[in-house]
Amino acid sequence: MAIEASRGCAYACNFCSIPACQRLAGEARRRRLRDPHAVACEMATIVDTFCLKDFWFMDADVLGPPGQRKHTLARARAIAKLPRDITLEIDARADSIPPEIIRAFQAAGLKRCFVGVDSFDGPTLTRLAKGTPPETNLRAIETLQYHGVRPIIGIIMFHPASTLGQLRKDHHVLRSIGYEKPICSSG
Ligand code: SF4
Repeated sequence: MAIEASRGCAYACNFCSIPACQRLAGEARRRRLRDPHAVACEMATIVDTFCLKDFWFMDADVLGPPGQRKHTLARARAIAKLPRDITLEIDARADSIPPEIIRAFQAAGLKRCFVGVDSFDGPTLTRLAKGTPPETNLRAIETLQYHGVRPIIGIIMFHPASTLGQLRKDHHVLRSIGYEKPICSSG
């Protein structure tokens, strides 16, 4: 069951349509947040009304930037208090995955996390204006695995500036971490 706790994104990766749409709307980097208890209340209503217990947060960056982490934790805690056996999947940036946030969401039922690493190649990440170094991507995957959350890795293998060196590096890292099913998109 898809659900939203926020809209917009505070980042500006240059391959992504969300910051471009936000700029057009005069809301560059603005991320609007729903009240954590309203989100938990909506989830409780969905469980009670439709018996649906597997939720996917479809937010662009559901965990948000460091300045909004307090709100993010409050949301995880509000969901964890629901007296229902629910499971969660979220989409997140690699640098939005500190252990305390993942622990809080794990307590709320987190099972799967799509993590937009996009590449493990430093120059490629710079070109994409991603704002995360390769080490952060690897650390995010380790954090998820350590907490028993399945990482779903989002990677852009092919784009107009792809090089053989970048492809080799991404392929090598994916193999070395034993990742069996990357979600690939072409830029
Ligand atoms: S963090 Fe995600 S949603 Fe935000 S601009 Fe980058 S790719 Fe788009």
